Formats: sequence, C-alpha cells, structure tokens
Amino acid sequence: MSGTILIVDDMAINRMILEAKLTEAYFDVLQAESGKEALAKVVECQPDLVLLDVLMDDMDGFTVCRKIKDNPETAHIPVVMVTALINPQDRLRGLESGADDFLTKPINDLALLSRVRNLLRAKFMFDELRLRDSTSRALGLDDYDPGRSLDLEGGSAVLVPGSAEAGRQWVRILGMQRDFTWTEMTDSKAVLDLQPEELPDVFMVHAKLAGGGDGLRLVSHLHSRPMTRHCGIILVVPEGQQETAAKGLDIGASDYLYEPLDPPETIMRIKGQIRRKHISDRLRANVNDTLRLAVQDSLTGLYNRRYALQHLARISEKARRSGKSFTVMLLDIDKFKRINDRYGHAAGDHVLCEFAHRLQENLRGVDLVSRIGGEEFLVAMPETNESQARKAAERLRRIIGQTPFDLPAPASCALHVTVSIGVVMGNAHSQDIDLLLRHADEALYASKNDGRDMVTLFSSAA
Ligand code: GH3
Ligand code: MG
Ligand code: MG
Repeated sequence: MSGTILIVDDMAINRMILEAKLTEAYFDVLQAESGKEALAKVVECQPDLVLLDVLMDDMDGFTVCRKIKDNPETAHIPVVMVTALINPQDRLRGLESGADDFLTKPINDLALLSRVRNLLRAKFMFDELRLRDSTSRALGLDDYDPGRSLDLEGGSAVLVPGSAEAGRQWVRILGMQRDFTWTEMTDSKAVLDLQPEELPDVFMVHAKLAGGGDGLRLVSHLHSRPMTRHCGIILVVPEGQQETAAKGLDIGASDYLYEPLDPPETIMRIKGQIRRKHISDRLRANVNDTLRLAVQDSLTGLYNRRYALQHLARISEKARRSGKSFTVMLLDIDKFKRINDRYGHAAGDHVLCEFAHRLQENLRGVDLVSRIGGEEFLVAMPETNESQARKAAERLRRIIGQTPFDLPAPASCALHVTVSIGVVMGNAHSQDIDLLLRHADEALYASKNDGRDMVTLFSSAA
C-alpha cells in the first residue's frame, strides 16, 4: 500500500525517525515543523494521513487537529496524534478535537505501520466514494451535501464481550450513555446469522471469545461478508497485546481498544465508528439513488453518455496520479437496424436490454458500463493493462455472439446477434478524453470494415 503521510513535529530528530520508518515501508513523506506550516500543507498537498505532535511551540496539536477537521477541504484526512504524555484526559481531548488515533513515543514500529495502513485503507474507500460523489457534483447535482447533519440518531452497536465478566463491565460502561442502542451477544455464530434489518453500525468484539473462540476470526468474517463489510468493527484486546491489536487491524477491524477499558474513551470510539458508518452509508446512498436517477439510461438501466464522459475524465485523472493504465472500449451492435426492421422496435429494445445485461454480468464492479447512443455502448476499465483489455474485449464479443438472444412474442425466436468492438489504452498522459474516444472510434470502424464481430485495438488499427 502506498500513500502520502505528513509528519508534523517541531523537533527535526523526531521527524527524521518517523520519516525513516515510513519511507522504509514505501510511504511518501512530507514534513512540517510547526502547526502553522502543517495547516498550510494539509490544504496544499492533501496528504492521505497526518502524524501530529501534541506539544509544539506555536500551536498545540489539539488545536491543529480541530482546524484540520473543521475545514471541509481537509476534514476527511485521518489524523494520528503522536505524544509522549498520554493520559486518559489527553486521549479524550484528542478524540474530541477529531483525532482518529494516538501513538505514544517512543513509537513502536508494529503499532505505527498497522495503524497507518488501517487508516489509509479506510481513507481510500472514502476517497473512492468521494470521487463518485464529485462526479455527481460535476454533473450539477450539487443540491445535496454528503456531510450534512451527521448526528448519531439511530446508532446501534452489537457487543460480543466473550466472557460474562467482560460483559458485565461493558454493560456498566455503556449503560450510562443515551446516544446509541446496543445489544449483547455471546455466540459468534448468532452474530454471523444476524438478518440485514438487525445489523448494527458497529460491532465491538473481544479478541478472546467464550469457550476459547477466536475473536479475530469473527472480525475477519464480519469484514469479508458483503452484508457486514461496511459496519464498524472495534476489537478489544487484553492490555499490552500490541501484536493482537495490529493483526486485528490488518484483517479488518476498523479500531481497537485495550483493556482495562476507559469508559469515556470507549463511548467516544464507538460514536466515532457510528459516525463513520453513517457517512459512508450516506455517500453510498447518494451514489446509488440521486446520482443514478439523473444519469441513468431509462431503457437499459446503464449509465448514460453524460455520466460516462464525466467518469472517464475522473478515471484518467486518477491514472495521471497512479501511473496505471486504463482501457476504453466502444461497442456497437452489428446490423442492428435489420433487427428493428424485421422484428419491430420492441424486439430491438429487448435486444438492447439483454445486451446491456450481458455486459454488466461480465465485467468487474469497478468497470463502467454505459449506453452512449442508440446501439452504442462504452466500457471503461480502470487499472487494466493491454493484455487484460484484449481478453476482456474478446470475452465480451463471445458472450454476445455465442449465445442467441431469445426474442419474446410475437417474434418468439432465438436471434444471432454480434458486436464490433474498438479498444484504446489510456495511460498517465491521456488527459484528452475526446482524443481517446476518437481513437476508440477508429478502432471500432476498423472492426466494422474488416467484417464485424471483431475486436480491434487502436494501435494495431492505425
Ligand atoms: P452497423 O453494423 O454498421 O453498426 O449497422 P447498424 O444497423 O447497427 O447501424 P445503424 O447506425 O445504421 O443503425 C442503428 C439503428 O439503431 C438505427 C436506429 O433506428 C436504431 N435504434 C437507435 N436507438 C434505438 C432504441 O432505443 N431502440 C431500438 N429498438 N432501436 C434503436
Ligand atoms: Mg450498429
Ligand atoms: Mg451505430
């Protein structure tokens, strides 16, 4: 995993130690030596994470953190406070100012790297959602604000304390608060059997479950299942077991707490996870509903041309930063006019829908499938190389041509349909979308000219 990390510390030696550890783990590192410089750099450089010293001359870390989290341009960047003096009051103050976690000096390498990787993973997931979200804003759908009024209303937690003893203690801690509801469960099988409507925003799981069960295994299951993948997971670890905590983060926990639990911090951490879950739910819902309605092709349900072009611009922008190539395909159904002429417009519509369905079934979730014209479709595949692109295009050609399309009554027959495909590769330098599309179109034209039911890659078409 890579990412850019801003180290903020007024002591050069501290910055150098952290920089050495992080560059060794292949992260890019930026430095700031004061609170003021840090605030300028987070805006200007948009790092993926900030490691923030608490005691600095010009401004304390809590104030810097508060300012980062209050600025909509930087609020999404995770902040880890780094400090020698860490007592419960300070931790609480840090959490209140929006910090995502703490590390104590001298820094333990394992704790540093597992924490950083975990926070980056969460951030990249949010970035992906924000990317789609910004596509919708570029389309003029800016009458909603994904961050608005994120209260904890309806927040819920499922507790899996592992032992009766731990259970009693957790209940004592949570019994005092009124911001979210919670249920206690002892059996990890019952946890995995929860129905969609019973799922909480956050699971709090002890590393050691009743009867010698493994809490980490439960965490791993919760994290990998589609239904619970987006829920927060807090792992509770016996005092001093840093390796268990680190492992938990690696396999999918979104946060951890050490025993003995500090009551205010426990509640704050749970609330933090609920808030995070609500934000991601809202972003996803925005993408799924608002966006779809305005950018969907009503016949096939695919994205329309308008959305496809915007999204393509974003994919190419991402490629510019990551250096990874991507693929654009234009697909045009062969002799489609004849289908209309012979079987009627409704039969033609049916073929378009079935065609769209087959494309969607045979591409990855991250690939964009859109209908950009009557019987013309565009597929964009991020992070794809040329050989993957060829294979994907051939696969699409086959899944159309190999299996006849069943036409409904009154035609009631099986129809052989074929598609011609033009493929072009984009890379970090392909910022001109129109040019890419012209090249894909040339390749498509070559496929048509050479007899249809074919794939042509742009370079070889030239
Ligand atoms: P080629 O192999 O060269 O692509 O030939 P073609 O017949 O597929 O291409 P052409 O562009 O000449 O014809 C496309 C036809 O698609 C013409 C138009 O009536 C039809 N069409 C466009 N939109 C729709 C639609 O929404 N539903 C139906 N049923 N037909 C449509
Ligand atoms: Mg056609
Ligand atoms: Mg056409």
